[in-house]
Amino acid sequence: MTRSIAYRRILLKLSGEALMGEADYGIDPKVIQRLAREIIEVQKAGVQVGVVIGGGNIFRGEGLAAAGMDRVTGDHMGMLATVMNALAMQDAIEKAGGFARTMSAIKINEVCEDFIRRRAVRHLEKGRIVLFAAGTGNPFFTTDSAAALRAVEVGADLLLKATKVDGVYTADPAKDPTAKRYDHLSYEEVIHRDLRVMDTSAIALCRDHRMPLRIYDMGVAGNLMRIMEGAQIGTLVNT
Ligand code: UDP
Repeated sequence: MTRSIAYRRILLKLSGEALMGEADYGIDPKVIQRLAREIIEVQKAGVQVGVVIGGGNIFRGEGLAAAGMDRVTGDHMGMLATVMNALAMQDAIEKAGGFARTMSAIKINEVCEDFIRRRAVRHLEKGRIVLFAAGTGNPFFTTDSAAALRAVEVGADLLLKATKVDGVYTADPAKDPTAKRYDHLSYEEVIHRDLRVMDTSAIALCRDHRMPLRIYDMGVAGNLMRIMEGAQIGTLVNT
């Protein structure tokens, strides 16, 4: 059966926490292997896939600064944490039979390639899964902003934010049983209602470049493929 695919090129944002599974630090091999298989499945169906991975399962600059460290040094450590996660995902993808390239926003050439936009696009066209590491390369930013930036830069059709909940709610569904899920939101609604879907700079970049964003539950196996086939899963943010 040939599957009909609704997207040509996507940018998937995975938080570092997504890799932890039930643990409170580091990477759960079972979780990363499952995510790798899901990513390969959509790539094999014809979708070009870029991935931005966070680093919150290892270090966050804000947390390190709160504990007394210089903020910029903390952010450098956070960015290096994203490189470690990207290398782990690269390994998981290749072990599962896919092709991947890690491209870093800060130069660490012995470890991975530098991010060079035209080279990244070439990798995507050749069916390699590109792991964009080290966020934007600048302190005081997050990997959400990096995901929006790379999505716009490489001309993705859709930015996906994989989370542990099945979309954006009116309130925290874990605390408020009356909380309702939004099927659709505009960029302005996200910003003005302070819905914290992604940080404001990421949403503003998506808004300014009309980059559609879908927030979905990556805990449900097969969701990524369903979205590629056009399923309206989670919450869509666009104009
Ligand atoms: N970071 C940064 N600049 C960037 C992206 C990330 O300084 O462009 C640092 C920042 O300290 C951040 C950490 O890297 O806390 C990990 O990224 P993030 O918190 O976005 O990871 P996630 O929450 O997605 O796991």
